[in-house]
Amino acid sequence: MSYVEEVFERVKRRDPEQKEFHQAVWEVMETIEPVLKIHSEYRQAGILERMVEPDRMILFKVPWVDDNGNARVNRGMRVQFNNSIGPYKGGLRFHPSVNLSIIKFLGFEQIFKNALTGRPIGGGKGGSDFDPKGKSDGEIMRFCQSFMNELYRHIGANIDVPAGDIGVGGREIGYLFGQYKRLTKSWEGVITGKSYGWGGSLIRPEATGYGQVYFLKEMMEGNGDSIEGKICTVSGSGNVAQYCTEKLIQMGGKVVTLSDSGGFVYDPAGIDEEKLAWIMDLKNNQRGRIKEYAENFDGVTYEKGERPWGIKCDIALPSATQNEIEKKDAEMLVKNGCKAVVEGANMPSTPEAVEIFEKGGIMFGPAKAVNAGGVATSALEMSQNAAFENWTAEEVDAKLQQIMIEIYRICSETSERYGQPGNLVMGANVAGFLKVANAMIDQGVV
Ligand code: NAP
Repeated sequence: MSYVEEVFERVKRRDPEQKEFHQAVWEVMETIEPVLKIHSEYRQAGILERMVEPDRMILFKVPWVDDNGNARVNRGMRVQFNNSIGPYKGGLRFHPSVNLSIIKFLGFEQIFKNALTGRPIGGGKGGSDFDPKGKSDGEIMRFCQSFMNELYRHIGANIDVPAGDIGVGGREIGYLFGQYKRLTKSWEGVITGKSYGWGGSLIRPEATGYGQVYFLKEMMEGNGDSIEGKICTVSGSGNVAQYCTEKLIQMGGKVVTLSDSGGFVYDPAGIDEEKLAWIMDLKNNQRGRIKEYAENFDGVTYEKGERPWGIKCDIALPSATQNEIEKKDAEMLVKNGCKAVVEGANMPSTPEAVEIFEKGGIMFGPAKAVNAGGVATSALEMSQNAAFENWTAEEVDAKLQQIMIEIYRICSETSERYGQPGNLVMGANVAGFLKVANAMIDQGVV
């Protein structure tokens, strides 16, 4: 058994039920093996063993009262994974599927993603099995306040800086920040994704989706192609999917699908800026379902319970959730002549799907690199808060573009240096790993 297999077996033995965490760990492990063979110092320092074990995991009860006066209880958690290169940083997810395995997988990936941004931010993640769907604003506020009543003890502008993720948008961030401020008397950049009027950064809401498309642009150009005129299938219709669609339209792409957990819509004419504005209002203000888009626009179909990967496309941009492209979906994408898959969501492709992309000659941009623009812009928000400054949208967008260009360059060059040119999964994992591993060695066994 090799060193990485030994460490991986130990991870599985210790927490046998944490399937998503195992998947995320193995994806990194198998790609960094060539580096470990060259650098024996990492093994001697137990870097892998120490990296797969979070610094701490905080589990807590979140009691709250619903609009009918009934007491309800959810589980809250925050996993502080690794702060070798900066304060823990990563979002909060509110979704009924949340458990420790999912939060650990997301926190583990965040370590490498954050290292790739070039900003001083460590890896963490948190959330709750609370379902915000169908809850009133009052219920959301009471839940967020109760969640923060415990979380505030463990976070701080230089300790751990949460942000949004699935189910946690501007409204939730406002309530969470308000309660932190009340409990601590401190106005500090403790959460990112804040509204612009009170400490938020311009372009932060757009950053993950925009960054996804900036990365795609580099990837296409690196392969002598462009986004212009390409048919794009996007999944999800939340924050990432919306701004990914907006930037694709601006760059001449034709977006023909969006989805939510109910199913997907197919608009063969393409979603233009006007239709997208309607969808944003539906999702962000009316909190409606994507099927209403098909009910309101001619020529649009809705497939209940399905994902959009059977629709013929040039570029697929999964932007909803983990494991949403499985083996059969990947086979369909290859069969339909898809040229590129660029991951906006975290771990949306199963390992079997990624293997099929590689064999089928599909260009593949992995989530850690592709969606890093969100957290990178959160780091820009932290910089603005620390300096008591507000940068213009143009300034932030220019920095985001530069960061995405740099991430693509690092992944691409690293894949070449270690003998697998074009393998951006390997490039991203190795580049992120080296940065964190070297910091851990410098800082001793802590
Ligand atoms: P969001 O605004 O809450 O939107 C999530 C979208 O995905 C919604 O359309 C949702 O549909 C759909 N979805 C969620 N769970 C699903 C499931 N099990 N099956 C099918 N569809 C599902 O969240 P987001 O911020 O866009 O995040 C999307 C992905 O990007 C996540 O993987 C997240 O971790 C990743 N990400 C986000 C950021 C960021 O800055 N926001 C940064 C990096 C990575 P319903 O409304 O029906 O639930």
